[in-house]
Parts: sequence; C-alpha cells; structure tokens
Amino acid sequence: MKYLSTRGEGSGRGFSEILLEGLAPDGGLYLPERYPRIDATTLARWRGLSYAELAFALLALYIDDIPAGDLRALVERTYTAEVFGDPRVAPLRPLEPGVFVLGLSNGPTLAFKDLAMQFLGHAFEYELARRGRTLNVLGATSGDTGSAAEYALKGKRGVSVFMLSPLGRMSPFQQAQMFSLQDANIHNIAVEGVFDDCQDLVKAVSADLAFKQRHAIGTVNSINWARLVAQVVYYFAGYFQATTSNDQAVDFAVPTGNFGNICAGHVARQMGLPIHRLVLATNENDVLDEFFRTGRYRVRSAAETHETSSPSMDISKASNFERFVFDALGRDPARTRVLFAEVESKRALSLTADERARIASFGFASGRSTADDRLATIRAVHARHGEVIDPHTADALKVGREHAEAGTPMIVLETALPAKFNATVHEAIGVDAPRPARFAGIEDLPRRFTTMTVDVERLKAFVAENG
Ligand SMILES: *Cc1c(COP(=O)(O)O)cnc(C)c1O
Repeated sequence: MKYLSTRGEGSGRGFSEILLEGLAPDGGLYLPERYPRIDATTLARWRGLSYAELAFALLALYIDDIPAGDLRALVERTYTAEVFGDPRVAPLRPLEPGVFVLGLSNGPTLAFKDLAMQFLGHAFEYELARRGRTLNVLGATSGDTGSAAEYALKGKRGVSVFMLSPLGRMSPFQQAQMFSLQDANIHNIAVEGVFDDCQDLVKAVSADLAFKQRHAIGTVNSINWARLVAQVVYYFAGYFQATTSNDQAVDFAVPTGNFGNICAGHVARQMGLPIHRLVLATNENDVLDEFFRTGRYRVRSAAETHETSSPSMDISKASNFERFVFDALGRDPARTRVLFAEVESKRALSLTADERARIASFGFASGRSTADDRLATIRAVHARHGEVIDPHTADALKVGREHAEAGTPMIVLETALPAKFNATVHEAIGVDAPRPARFAGIEDLPRRFTTMTVDVERLKAFVAENG
C-alpha cells in the first residue's frame, strides 16, 4: 500500500516512511491510495478473531513494508489483556435497550488514545532500530494525548519525549499520571502559560528547520496515520460484539475534538463495515456540529474556544477534518488545497451546493452537548444503571440517544474513564468516581518535571541537552 497527500504532493511513500513524519511535505495529510474493501467472506472470518488477530489482519492491509512476522509480533505485544485490563481489549457492554457502550479506556492512561498510541510506541521503537535512527518527540498537551504518548514511549529505545503542558491547568489526576513517571527518556515541561503558549512553543521549535533536523524532532499528534488506522480496529471489534450477523447495521456515537476518532469510523465504513450512521457529538465547541447540521464551517479563534468540562474536545479547528473532506469530494487534491488555504485565510470552508450534497450523503449525524447536559447525563446514568461515565462519554451518549432508531444498535464510544475527570463526576453525583486500584495514591508519588517560562531558546537548549 502506498500513501498520498490530501494536497497532492509527496505521494508514493510506504507506511514505514510516513510513520515517523507528521504532515506531508505540502502541508496535507497522508491517506492510503485506496481503502481495501472487506468482502462478506473476510468479514465472516474476522468475526471470530481475537482483538490482536483482528488488528493484525486489518493493519496488514495497510502495512506491507514491515515483514508480516514482525508486524504480527508488534501487534501481539500491543493488544494484551495485561495492558488493556480485559481479554477483549475493547469490551462492549449494554447500557439500555438498543444502546451499548464500547469500553476503549481500560489501557494504561484510562483514555481511548492508548489503543492507538501503544501500537505507535512499539512501531516507533521497531522502525527507529531498523533505520539506526533516534527521535526526539516534542509535543504539547492539555491532558490525554501527553499521558498516552508518555506511557507508550517510556523506556523505549531510540526515542525521548519532551511534553509541554500548561502549569497547573491539567486535572490533578492527569498531572499526577504524567509527572510521576521516572523514566529517563520522559521529560515533562510545565510551561508558565496556557495551552496555546505550549502549542506556539512547539511550532516555533519545529519552524527552525536546521534545529529540527539536527535534533531529529518528531511528533505523535493526532494527524499521524498510524494512530488513525489503529483506531479503525475497534469499530470492527465493537460491531462484532453488538451484532450476531454481518447483515445488521449499527450506529456509532463519537465524542469529537480533532476528528481523529470519528475519521477512523469513516475509514471502517469505506472498507465496507455496515455502519448506518456516524453520530458526531461536540461540546460547546461546536464547529463540527454546526457544519454537519448547516453546511457552514466557521473556525473559531483561540479566544472563542470555550474551556469546558469535557476538555479533550475543546478544539477550535479539527486537524483530521481535511481527510474526510478530501474523500467526500472525490479525492481531488487541487480542490482540497484551495479549500484548506481558505480555511487558513478566511477561517471558513466555501463549498458549492453540489459539494455539500456529496458530504451529506456520507451518513453523518451530529449534535451538541453542554455542561448541564453532561451533569444531567452522568447523574441519570448513575441513578438508573448504577454506572459512572466520564464527561466526554456523556456528551456522546446524550447526542447518540437523540439519534437512536429502533432496530439499529447505537454504540457509544467510551473515550475516558471517569476517574480522570473526578471534579465533574463528583459535581454530578456527589461521590468520587471509582478509581482502578493501580492508581491508588498516585497524587502522593514523587514527581519529575521541569518548570519553564514561555521561552523558545530555553526550550531548545533543554532539548539539545537532554535529547
Ligand atoms: C482526544 C479525546 C477526544 C477527542 O477525540 P478526537 O480524535 O480528537 O476527535 C474525546 N474524548 C477524550 C477523552 C479524548 O481524550
């Protein structure tokens, strides 16, 4: 399988080449040249596979420049009951008639990002060793991405992590999770500023091409194709658990920020998985809900981006959205280039009526959930079912219910466990969220982090010294 860029240049690369890159050289996003179609025989066979076997079967369709035996070993090392706390890896549970919850958050950092990032960690280590290279991963996080990356890359050979986070702004649990890591290759940098300052610092370092090259700076952000394709697997796994035959169709409700998770659902659908609708849920940051309801795409400024109680969805511009638009408009790189240049310059996407109709034919539905909705949903689920869900999952459940149809199972993706966002959970139900035993007393562990002002030169010096 070869990969191409949504903007037309840099085509013809293999998986292992784009693995260590972020954006394509023309600023576009990588996609496979085509989506392999899964026929009925293959789908029937896949139904009987374990998660790791399924992951290998699916990933092998997209990865042909890593020997099959090596890929199988990487996948088997990644998707184990020990790492994900359940032999099914992504277990499905019924919540109420017609509504299921797909548990994606039982991995090392209690968020769904582990499912992709753990694979990325093993794949990075493998590929760097094969190429005799090293990598310094530089990133900015407001919570879930940073911890998932650190837990995936800690102790891995050939790679160091420099993760910037806004000092004192993550949840106490998230802070404890990241800062308690003692591994020599993990560097937490608490920046005296807000998340945007962290992101600006990363951009400034990456813009210094000489520095970037000299110190082998890389990223693990959500536009990485390897992360996206690893997420396609759990759409299949969820489908097989919710249905008894491959003639049935299902809906998925997805709490959405950067459009990475739901884009994996789109890929699963393009491969032939019987998905009726992909239901996109936003919080108060509703750029994408507005788009799917009205056809208008209006990027918000940082100042217009709300800080909400589902913080991992507080996004003003969804970085993976270009992938879907590229596919929906018939994979025309010239048109994609024009449209997304306008997103930069005018903060809007100017589609023709015909293009809007094509997008509408892709089976997306959407809705919005607010702070009050999250509290009410968490409270009602607790009262009715005795279960505790996290605020992001609550957004998806609220919107998913609005779109549920009799006879079509609605699978709600659980993207985090409630222990990560205890303040909101406590506000909703008056008691603490249950916490997995392995995280008992995590706040009391010794912490390893560096505090820094918003200073590009200091950051560069720190990376040069510790990389
Ligand atoms: C990252 C994240 C999301 C958003 O996922 P995208 O792929 O960015 O759309 C939703 N919920 C949680 C808990 C997350 O960590």
